[in-house]
Parts: sequence; structure tokens; C-alpha cells
Amino acid sequence: MALTTKSLKKSNNSLANPERQWEILEHTEGMSFKPFKQEMEGLDLFPLKPSGIEILQINVGKMCNQVCKHCHVDAGPDRKEIMTRETMQLCLEAIKNSDIHTVDLTGGAPEMNPDFRWFVEELSALGKHIIVRCNLTIIVANKKYYDLPEFFKKHNIEVVSSLPYFAAKRTDAQRGEGVFEKSIRALKMLNEVGYGKEGSELKLNLVYNPSGAFLPDHQEALQAQFKKKLQEGYEIDFHELFAITNLPISRFLEYLIRTENYESYMEELANAFNPMAAEQVMCRNTVSVSWDGYLYDCDFNQMLELKLEGKAQHLKDWNTEEIGKRNIILGQHCYGCTAGAGSSCGGTTA
Ligand code: SF4
Ligand code: SF4
Repeated sequence: MALTTKSLKKSNNSLANPERQWEILEHTEGMSFKPFKQEMEGLDLFPLKPSGIEILQINVGKMCNQVCKHCHVDAGPDRKEIMTRETMQLCLEAIKNSDIHTVDLTGGAPEMNPDFRWFVEELSALGKHIIVRCNLTIIVANKKYYDLPEFFKKHNIEVVSSLPYFAAKRTDAQRGEGVFEKSIRALKMLNEVGYGKEGSELKLNLVYNPSGAFLPDHQEALQAQFKKKLQEGYEIDFHELFAITNLPISRFLEYLIRTENYESYMEELANAFNPMAAEQVMCRNTVSVSWDGYLYDCDFNQMLELKLEGKAQHLKDWNTEEIGKRNIILGQHCYGCTAGAGSSCGGTTA
């Protein structure tokens, strides 16, 4: 794969358009597997209902210092969409009016939002468990971010960071030249303040996702391998490794089509459909918020611009009861969450 330098949007790629992506995903004629909804019907899981609203995943902006090849957000330095403080206030109101116990901050690089620290302080004052999806390199990108490990520690934030591999070549091929070396420096800084150490409450979890059109290996085996290699090679400690399947959306969808792997990848996902994983999909206890305050079943539906079914489509119309009763919008991309051991933002599900 050639290294990406611009977002699909900036390159005027037709796949930057969510409607175009949806059209491709829903075109199942000639495919050798059932539409996803039929699989769910067979398990009495259609329409799919939430089990509760426990986690709010908030995308505070698409701006990022990296341009990873597989990015389902199509994030990068050329993306300027950013959540305002006003929208963050609406998030805080929604959290106060619900049973949400965990707030999962994502982006782009969430730390690049100028109100990121203010928002964390407000969430922390509400006593919520906070997760930050930190891409690691942001910590060493500029002096103003060097104290992020201390800031994370102060608010007992759980740090979840992508590290595609424990060697430079594979990591840099997916995330950009020099990313591995910077990630190692950032991990060391996190370890220095107590993150990732055995017995430490400062959680540092890593995310692995495959570097091509295949499913991830077994999570436990990968974790053991990562722990050994990162400790031996760099004296780095972390808690858990989450193995995540790449969903056929945005830049990964573009890669699949460009390399003529789209149909075989979809077939691989569908053939690996796991009923146990289907019951545990993350949209059942999570609601996702976009930078402009719209509500979605998950981060993937957000990127496809499939807003929540019902009247509560924006934070301004937040209604816990109504959101808890909605039908979750499903499509062919959902096979990515139900294949093999299952996949969610917290790793395998079954
Ligand atoms: S660091 Fe994350 S948000 Fe940024 S480009 Fe990479 S995958 Fe996308
Ligand atoms: S892609 Fe989203 S809506 Fe579909 S199963 Fe996964 S979490 Fe649920």
C-alpha cells in the first residue's frame, strides 16, 4: 500500500462520501453470503435493541497529527472539524440526565481539540470513568503536549493506544514514517508516571489491528507476544492488548476496493459470523456523538452518517428513555463486529 498523506476528503476521493460507502456496502447482489440483517433475524436479534446506555463515545474532532492508512474516521492534519465548548456542554447535560458511567474520548487526536483539557476536568468533576483514545505520537509532537501523561494521571484517565505491531517496519507502514519510534518514546513517558505498571490503577491498554485484509489473531496470544517483545526490546509495560477487526469503512474500504480485496474480505467476515459476538456488539450499551453533536449507534455508523433512529438525533434532543428503546441501524459493515471472536472498542467480545 502506498503511504497515505492526505485524507480522502482532501483528495476528493468519491469514498469520502458516506452515501457512496453505504451504496457499496449494501450492494449484496452476487455476494455468496446472507445480508447481515437476515443473520440477526435468525438469532432473534432483529430489530436489535440496546441493553442500556452505559458508555458515551465522543468524537471531539477529526483533526489528527497522523494519516493512518486504515483510518475509519478519515482523520488527518487537513481535517478541521472540531467540537466546540458549547457542544461539550450539551454532552455534559446528557451525561447528567442518564446512567452513563464511562466517557470514551476519541478523534482524530482528541488532545488537539483546544477545549480537551477543560472537557476532561468537567467530566472528572462528574466522577465519570474517562477513556482517551491517544495515538501516542501526539504526546511527543509538540512541547505543549509533553505533560499529557501527568494530566492523564491527575484525572485517572484510562489510556487506550493503537500500536499495530511491536516492530518499526509494520507500524510505520500502517501509521506513517517514524511513528513507531515516537510511540515508544511516548509509552516510556507514560510508564514513567506509573501507567501500565503491574498493579497500577493507571490503565494503559494497547490496540492491535491487522495490517491487511484479514482477521486478527487470537487476542490472548497477541497480548503475550506484545508484552514479551515490548519488555525485552524497550522495557515497556502495559496492561491489556485489544485486538480489533478493521471495518470496511472509509480509508480501509478504499484500500479493500483498490487492492481488489473487498469481496473476499466481506466473505471472510460473513463466514466467520459468531452468534455469541452478535449478542455482545458494542452499540447495545454505547451511544456515539459526533463533533457537531449528532447521535449515532456507534463510531462506524457515525462515519456512514446513519443518525440514531427516532426523534433524538442530536444532543439538544437527548432523551434517555427514547434512545434506550430505539432500533439500532445495521448494515453489511456490522459483520466486522461479529466475526470470529467479535470486535469492539474494548477488543474481542466473545
Ligand atoms: S491516529 Fe487514529 S484518528 Fe489519527 S489518522 Fe490514525 S487512526 Fe485515524
Ligand atoms: S457496526 Fe456499529 S451498529 Fe453495526 S454491530 Fe458494530 S457497533 Fe453495532
